[in-house]
Amino acid sequence: MEIAVESMASGVGMRKNETLICAPLMADTVDQVVNLMHKSKATGADIVEIRLDHLKSFDPHSDIQKLIKECPLPTLFTYRPIWEGGQYDGDENTRFNALQLCMKLGADHIDIELKAAHEFNKFLNGGKPEKCKVIVSSHNYDSTPSSEELGNLVARIQAAGADIVKFATTAVDITDVARVFQITVHCQVPIIAMVMGERGLMSRILCPKFGGYLTFGTLEAGKVSAPGQPTIEQLLNLYNFRLIDSDTKVFGIIGKPVSHSKSPKLYNRAFREDGFNGVFLHLLVDDLPKFFDTYSSSDFSGFSCTIPHKEVALSRCDEVDPVAKSIGAVNCVIRRPNDGKLFGCNTDYIGAISAIEDGLRENGASGPVSPLAGKLFVVIGAGGAGKALAYGAKEKGARVVIANRTYERAKELAEIIGGQALSLADLESFHPESGMILANTTSIGMQPKIEETPVPQEALKHYELVFDAVYTPKITRLLGEAQEVGAKIVTGVEMFIGQAYEQYERFTGLPAPKQLFKEIMGDH
Ligand code: NAP
Repeated sequence: MEIAVESMASGVGMRKNETLICAPLMADTVDQVVNLMHKSKATGADIVEIRLDHLKSFDPHSDIQKLIKECPLPTLFTYRPIWEGGQYDGDENTRFNALQLCMKLGADHIDIELKAAHEFNKFLNGGKPEKCKVIVSSHNYDSTPSSEELGNLVARIQAAGADIVKFATTAVDITDVARVFQITVHCQVPIIAMVMGERGLMSRILCPKFGGYLTFGTLEAGKVSAPGQPTIEQLLNLYNFRLIDSDTKVFGIIGKPVSHSKSPKLYNRAFREDGFNGVFLHLLVDDLPKFFDTYSSSDFSGFSCTIPHKEVALSRCDEVDPVAKSIGAVNCVIRRPNDGKLFGCNTDYIGAISAIEDGLRENGASGPVSPLAGKLFVVIGAGGAGKALAYGAKEKGARVVIANRTYERAKELAEIIGGQALSLADLESFHPESGMILANTTSIGMQPKIEETPVPQEALKHYELVFDAVYTPKITRLLGEAQEVGAKIVTGVEMFIGQAYEQYERFTGLPAPKQLFKEIMGDH
C-alpha cells in the first residue's frame, strides 16, 4: 500500500510520516462491521482491523468475501482466541482455515499470535499469497519486560516468519515506554509496538517519531480493543499525529491525574498553526525523578507540571528561577538545548497577577504602576497557587493577607512574604476597608462540588475584584455571587491562559498566539 507523504508546510490534511492509523472494528454482525469500515474511512483511518472473533455468527466463505469486497480501506484480519485476550473459543483448525481464507480472498494483512505461529505455518505449508502481510503478535497484559527480554521476543517473532512484528505490553510506569521506543527504533523489519494503559499513551502517539508501522485509533471514545487506545479524532486533531516525524520535539503536562488537562489542546493547536515541529502530550507520571532520568534526551524538550509534582519538580531541576524558588513550586520545566540541563520556573503567578491587573484596569485603574500597588489583597489558600498569588501580589506592592483552613500554613506563608494571617472562619467578618481584592486559590467550588464556596456572599460586598483559580467551571459559585454584589470578576481560565502564554514562549521561542489561546479556551 502506498501512502502519499507530504513534507510541505504543516496544517490539517498534511502528512509527514508513513505510520498508519488502524481502526479496530468490533461488532456483532458483518453488516455492522461494513458500516464501521465506511465510518473509519470518513474519520481518517488508513486501515481497518476486522476482529472476526467479535462476530456473533460467522460464515467464513460468504462473510470474508463480503468484508473484503465492501471495505474502502486496506484490511487486517484478526481472529483472536480467548487465551490471547480475544473472544474466539473454538478449535485451532477452524480458526486457521478462516485466516487462510482471508489470505486467499485478498486480505492485505492477517494477524497470528506468536504462540500459534509455528502451527499456523505448518498448516499453511508455504501457501502464502505474496500480497498478504503476516503480522505475528504477542500480548502481555501484566507488564513491560526488560529491554533484553523484549529484544529476544522480537527475535522470536521474526523467526516465526513475521512480515511485520507486533507486540503489546502493559505500562506499570510511564518509563516502561522508553524501552519499547528503543526496540522500535532498532527493529530491522516493520514493527507495531504498543504499551497498553493510560501510562502507555505516548507509545501510541509518538510511534511515527520512532518509525512504528501503525497505531490503533478508535472510532468512539471507550470502544477500545486494548486499554489506552485514543480515538482517531484525538490522534489527528488533538495530537497532530500526521505531522510527527523523527525531529519532532516532545512536550507534555506532567500530573497525576492528568487526562482532564486542556493544555495539549491548547499547545498542539498553536504548534500546528505556527508550523512548530512539536507535540504536547498528557503524561501520567508517578515518580518524577525517574521520569526525568529516563527521558533525558534533548528530544524531550519541556514540561508543564501540575498537582502533585510542583514541589518535587523544584528539587529535581538543575537550575531554578529565583521567583519559583521563593514560591517553592515549579510549574514549567525547560530542557536547555545546549547542555541538556533542566531549568525550572513558575508561570502561575505571572498568569494570575497579570489577569487581575487587567481586570482592575478594565475597572478604571490607569497609570504606569501596577494597579495592585497599595491594595489590600486577600488570598484564600496557602498551597502552590496560594503561594504564587501571595508572592506575585507582594511583588506588585499590595498588602497581603492569607486565609487558610490550616491556620499554621497561613501563618508560615504570611511570615515568609511579610503579610498577615487569618483563619478561614475569620474571613467572613474581615473588612477593614472597602475596595479589597479577593483571590481563591483552594479547590473549593471545583467540579464536581460546584455548590461550594469559600466565603458567604454577604462578605463579598467589601471587595472591588474577586478572582478564582478554579477553572472548571469557568464561573464558580464564588464568582457568580461576587458578580451579583457588583464586584469585578477574574476567572481561573484567564489565569490558565496567562500562564500558558508564558510557557508557550519559553517552549518555542515564539510569541504566544494570544487570540487563538482565548478562542480555544472559549474566552474571547
Ligand atoms: P495545593 O497545593 O494542594 O493547595 C490546596 C489549598 O487549598 C491548601 O491551602 C488547602 O488548605 C486548601 N483546601 C483544599 N481543600 C479545601 C477545603 N475543602 N476547604 C478549605 N481549604 C481547602 O493545590 P494548588 O496547586 O495550590 O491548587 C489549588 C487550586 O488552584 C486547584 O483547584 C487548581 O486547579 C487551581 N489552579 C488553577 C490554575 C489556573 O491556571 N487557573 C493554576 C494552578 C492551580 P490546607 O492547607 O488546609 O490543606
